[in-house]
Amino acid sequence: MKVCVIGGAGYIGSHTVYELIDDHHEVVVIDNLSTGQRDAVHPKAKFHFGDITNFEQLDEIFKEETALKPFDAVMHFAAKIVVPESVEKPLDYYHNNVEGVRVMLAVMANHGVKNIIFSSTAAVYGQPENGVCKEDDETKPINPYGETKLASEKMIQWVSDAYDMNYCIFRYFNVAGAHESLEIGLNRDVLTHIIPITVQTALKIRDEMSIFGNDYDTADGTCVRDYIHVSDLAQAHVLGMKYIVNENKSGIFNLGSSKGFSVLEVVNEVSKYKPVNYKVGPRRAGDPAMLIASSNKAKEVLGFETERSLEKIIESDIKYREK
Ligand code: UDP
Repeated sequence: MKVCVIGGAGYIGSHTVYELIDDHHEVVVIDNLSTGQRDAVHPKAKFHFGDITNFEQLDEIFKEETALKPFDAVMHFAAKIVVPESVEKPLDYYHNNVEGVRVMLAVMANHGVKNIIFSSTAAVYGQPENGVCKEDDETKPINPYGETKLASEKMIQWVSDAYDMNYCIFRYFNVAGAHESLEIGLNRDVLTHIIPITVQTALKIRDEMSIFGNDYDTADGTCVRDYIHVSDLAQAHVLGMKYIVNENKSGIFNLGSSKGFSVLEVVNEVSKYKPVNYKVGPRRAGDPAMLIASSNKAKEVLGFETERSLEKIIESDIKYREK
């Protein structure tokens, strides 16, 4: 298939491009390189510089590509994803994450592209009662990041109805780790996620780290999350694309491992490798106590299963950062 990957120079986008190329698809990446890197794009993928909020720019690229061969599907990764930043700068999040999706859908409709694979998040669930999230549970985000993703999910569903498109919406849990080639991984100037921060502390790239709150209603008082390896997650996108294109269907799927680990357990796991200098600090704004995926739907409908454990995720992040 010919696939347009918007945000294909970023962390999850670049890993998905690797999986698409491995599965013999033709890949065209569009990215504004705001957080992504040009050299993270697989050498066999074609690259266009473009911003998802710029209709003229995106439309021009689609025109040029469609003249060569129409796209079978579009994958969307070009989002801002940092919860605390979204609390501080909600307007930036609405502009990039919601207006960007509107522009992308308008361009898709303009060029008759019928299939969209969209990156959403567990943050759409808010604070689930028992911490375990099913796809048809109530959605009640507690931060602007989750709100922008939920607004986009709804827009995609309405637009799909109106323009006869198929969608595959993936709600990611906590994604981490690096590609086994170590060519790509999570590489940003400012890292905010727990696994890379803990690994950097163990590797003495940073002096110390904080655990944000140990007074949550969880077994050890620190927040519980469900971690999934980025290559497992990327493979799910290939399955999701085949499902919507070949079966002409749509769906919303959680992508997680169905297992929860506390922040302290993550720190202890990394400490098995090298000591981690940490302190316990105050809670961070916008953090729910526990988020664990129910992953049955992705397994039953898409045949998706995770292959890599938390240990493997951490090991691959350590190897990537050491390199
Ligand atoms: N966290 C932490 N210290 C850090 C970064 C994150 O204690 O330096 C905690 C954070 O408060 C949350 C969990 O780790 O409870 C996962 O946060 P992350 O930012 O990795 O992902 P999120 O779940 O917010 O998408």
